[in-house]
Amino acid sequence: MDQGENAPDFWTCLMRGWRGRCPRCGEGSLFSSFLKMRSHCPACELALEPFRADDAPAYFTIFIVGHIVVPMVLALEKYGGQPPLWVHAALWLPLSVVLALFLLPRIKGAVIALLWAHRIAAPKPSTTGSYDPSA
Ligand SMILES: [Zn+2]
Repeated sequence: MDQGENAPDFWTCLMRGWRGRCPRCGEGSLFSSFLKMRSHCPACELALEPFRADDAPAYFTIFIVGHIVVPMVLALEKYGGQPPLWVHAALWLPLSVVLALFLLPRIKGAVIALLWAHRIAAPKPSTTGSYDPSA
């Protein structure tokens, strides 16, 4: 990994990733569409492909959205006079979707930046088709 002497600090990397920007230069966009990662940073040519977030962004998004929405559901049940289920559905389903759509690309960018900052790259696929952990 070509992080070099002037590599930005961890929190700068994380904030750049949160904003969907390249963790190294902060200029190029990480994504070519909503969640599709670019193979390289368009500004500094950093190879982004080895830094695969996989399921981590979805996991963290579900974790955070759940910890925001579930206490609100319980609070409404306890202090809101136990409204009918359609009220819960009308409130929490859209809120959950909006929160997830807001957080998912930001968390994915932050996870990619975290992987880059800690040099956690996926192994290169081998040309023989077998797994080569040294590659
Ligand atoms: Zn860059």
